[in-house]
Amino acid sequence: MSNIQLHGKSFEIFLPEALIQEKIAALASEINTAYAGKKPLFIAVLNGSFMFASDLFKSISIEAEICFIKLASYKGTTSTGQVITAIGLDVDLTNRHIIVLEDIIDTGKTLHTFLPQLHNQQPASLKIGVLLHKPDATVFEVPIDYCCFSIPNKFVLGYGLDYDGYGRNSRDIYKLAE
Ligand code: 5GP
Ligand code: MG
Repeated sequence: MSNIQLHGKSFEIFLPEALIQEKIAALASEINTAYAGKKPLFIAVLNGSFMFASDLFKSISIEAEICFIKLASYKGTTSTGQVITAIGLDVDLTNRHIIVLEDIIDTGKTLHTFLPQLHNQQPASLKIGVLLHKPDATVFEVPIDYCCFSIPNKFVLGYGLDYDGYGRNSRDIYKLAE
């Protein structure tokens, strides 16, 4: 597990696969207990959350649904804050127990901007589950209910997260080398 090079930048190992899987299994088990009988609907935000959502959902043993939406575009190594309209949200959320799955909360702008649209549909409950959270970068308030890792304010990639399109296929998470 040596450094990887992408677009002329060097990335070093940060969160190995086994640790990621351990945290996700623990989160799934917490959700299995908390949502038994509630038929939760997971809403995974593409692209970055696809591996997280997939691995988490495989460990969900209660009755549950999942859908995938696309929201924001992200370019380069700092958040652009660009938000695009939700594509693919074709399930009625009224009276449903919703768990939004995001890869990472950075500035918080994406979810902060988008969550009111979900609340408008009057779900029975609405919780946020994230793989990664950068508390030092967060300027827009987001109520995070489940978080696998709180991380320093460094650019990361792998396990679904990209750097200009590449790097998503790594099983481990890497961070920009010093
Ligand atoms: P926000 O700043 O709105 O909280 O984050 C928006 C999006 O930026 C995240 O969902 C994620 O796709 C992307 N993002 C934020 N920080 C990083 C990072 O360190 N690495 C990668 N690959 N994407 C990030
Ligand atoms: Mg994302």
